[in-house]
Amino acid sequence: MLRVILYRNYNFLPLFERNREESNFDNNIKKMKNDIIIMIDLQKYWDNILGTRNEIDRCNKSILFWEKSIDDKKNDVLSLQQEIKDAKKKIDQRELGLAEKDGRAKDLEKRRFILKTERELGALTHELERVNLEKSNLEDELIELFDVLEVKESELSRIKLEFDDEKKQAADDVFMLKNRIKDYDELITEKQDKFDGLVNELQGGTRLRFLKLIKSDSGKGIVEVVGETCEGCHCIIPMHLVHELVDRENITICTNCGRFIWKKSS
Ligand SMILES: [Zn+2]
Repeated sequence: MLRVILYRNYNFLPLFERNREESNFDNNIKKMKNDIIIMIDLQKYWDNILGTRNEIDRCNKSILFWEKSIDDKKNDVLSLQQEIKDAKKKIDQRELGLAEKDGRAKDLEKRRFILKTERELGALTHELERVNLEKSNLEDELIELFDVLEVKESELSRIKLEFDDEKKQAADDVFMLKNRIKDYDELITEKQDKFDGLVNELQGGTRLRFLKLIKSDSGKGIVEVVGETCEGCHCIIPMHLVHELVDRENITICTNCGRFIWKKSS
């Protein structure tokens, strides 16, 4: 507890000692008031630094979002290009197969005129039907593959256009976000310099405790008491502490969260 408590039996002291005690008391009150003012200013700088760090985090997340989105789109383009390549390869294979079957069918047709027996003619007709069926199947596959290729090529054109637009938008946004981060960094340096300059004006013990508190997760070293509630932990402060805050503008610590507390004079 940092409150200065004068507990001696004041009335029994000689006058000069009483004056000295009064003067010490006044000095301590002055120092404490000064510490409160300094801590409130430091807290404002610190809140600003933390808020700005959060903004930088948000900017970095947006940059990551753009990078991921561009990567995803790039992968979509690559994967579609591969699918088109595969479809074209299949088309080439089917076309070769079709040309081969076509040649075979023509050969069979030529042989029809040199055959001598019904049996040979029957076998050739059977063979020709089989080759024509295979040709027909290959043609069906080719029609299907050309349809697929057309759809994929049209999809690729669309995705590429979107990708180009997105790359441009991402480049503009990332440029803007990086500039914003640069400004935020400068702001943090400015506030940190002010903070570092001011923090040394706090009394030793108060300084150490305050620094420890603001470096905690909440980043709050000193908080206001509104009514009877600590704004740090939202607990009710014992009434005698609230009175001390109001009457003496004393430095007090919240009995629940351990933060320095202060109260606006009404
Ligand atoms: Zn509290």
